Order: sequence, then C-alpha cells, then structure tokens
Amino acid sequence: MADSVAIEVRRYRPEEKSEPYWQRYEVPVREEWMILDALNYIKDNLDGSLSYRWACRMGVCGSCGMMVGGEPILTCASYLADHLPGPIRIEPLRGFPVVRDLVNNLDDFMDKLTAVKPWIVREQEQPLSEGEYLQTPEELDAYKQYSMCINCMLCYAACPIYELEPAFIGPAAIALAQRYNFDSRDQGAEERMDHLSRDEGIWACTFVGECSVVCPKDVDPAGAIQRYKVKAMTQWYKSMLLPWGERKR
Ligand code: SF4
Repeated sequence: MADSVAIEVRRYRPEEKSEPYWQRYEVPVREEWMILDALNYIKDNLDGSLSYRWACRMGVCGSCGMMVGGEPILTCASYLADHLPGPIRIEPLRGFPVVRDLVNNLDDFMDKLTAVKPWIVREQEQPLSEGEYLQTPEELDAYKQYSMCINCMLCYAACPIYELEPAFIGPAAIALAQRYNFDSRDQGAEERMDHLSRDEGIWACTFVGECSVVCPKDVDPAGAIQRYKVKAMTQWYKSMLLPWGERKR
C-alpha cells in the first residue's frame, strides 16, 4: 500500500475568490483511515481553513456526505485505501448551493422535508386513559425500512432529476412521507398525498433508481416513490369509477 495519497479538494471561499478552485494536499495513508480521517488530517496538520461538516463518525448523523471521485458517499464510512492510488477528488454534494468549501446549504432540503409533515399526524388524539398507541411487530415492519433514513442527502446528489428540476421534492422527503403513511398510528396520508401528487412530487421521478443505489441505509427511496405512484393511481381510478362514499376506502 502507498505511504501517501494526493487529495484534491474543491475549495470555495467567497470572501477571497468568487469562483471555486481545486487545492491539492498530500496525506499519509493508514489502513484504518476513512476519507473523513484524511480530511481531519488536512484540517489539523496542513490547512486549518478547510471547511466541512461531520459529527458522529459512525454513519448515523448523516452530516459528512460529499462527492468523492464523483460519487456521493458518507466520508466516515468509506476507507481511504479503497480510493487508492489517487489523486482522490472531493467535492461538496452535487445539486445543492455551496456555502463554502465542502459545506452545502441545506435550506431547500429542510423546506421540502417539513412540507411532507414527517411526523405522526392525528385527526384526534386518543384519551390518555386509553394508554399508548400499540403496534404489532408486523405494523412496525410496514414502515421500519423508511425510518432508517439519516437525512444525509446522498440520494439527492445522485438524482439527475433534482439537478435538472430543483423544484422536485426528492427521494428522501418522499421516503419519509411513506415512513409516516405506513405507520398505523398516523392519519396524515391524505394531506401528504395532496402535496406529493403534484408534478414536482412523485410524478417528477423517472425511476432512474440511483437514489437507492447510493443510500447507505438501504432505505430504497426509489421503491418508496413507485409505491406512492401506485397508491395515487389507485385513488384516482377509484375517484373516477366509484360513488362518493366508496372513494374514501
Ligand atoms: S434515503 Fe438514504 S440516501 Fe437519502 S437521505 Fe435517507 S439515508 Fe440518505
């Protein structure tokens, strides 16, 4: 294994230069290092001005997603040695505005996420005297896969539609809408459908499927979107064919 590797980082420091530029660093290679360790080495030893986000270092917080060699990955979960011989190119996640260096502006994603109401919606809460909302293991299984999302946005960076149509609500927000739609305690599916059955919602997806390929948590947002489309079509057919009272079922 090589002793060192060149890392090229896409820098953006608007207070100094109006355009992004590439900066090259030589970093030692350690077998146990992740890409994030190499960035931390640069920050601690070579260039303290480099900006990037990270927190948990264990693939849970979702904050260290970047483009490495053109692919969106969690930098805390990808071995440096797997990217040899280099040079290794590191950029901020594609499709999002950049604040500086490797730090993206998350506002668009957060707005879209909030709009799908990713929480349990109840028309009426049951009285406390009736106790908790109980769920069977089967009811938990119905949404558990979608609940594994860590909001890392790798799926957005991999999605060609989001890059071309920034209004697209996008894979993770739709998968998280499904996480609550399939929760037996939730009653907000109809509100979410109103929001997501628009052109920039589920119908903007052309099922490229890259979102599910890059997802580090096997959430399968592409599958979530296709299930949503089936549901929307079924509801539409019912609204055309059935008398009013039957449509709601
Ligand atoms: S669906 Fe997967 S890739 Fe997308 S934000 Fe959630 S965990 Fe990340």
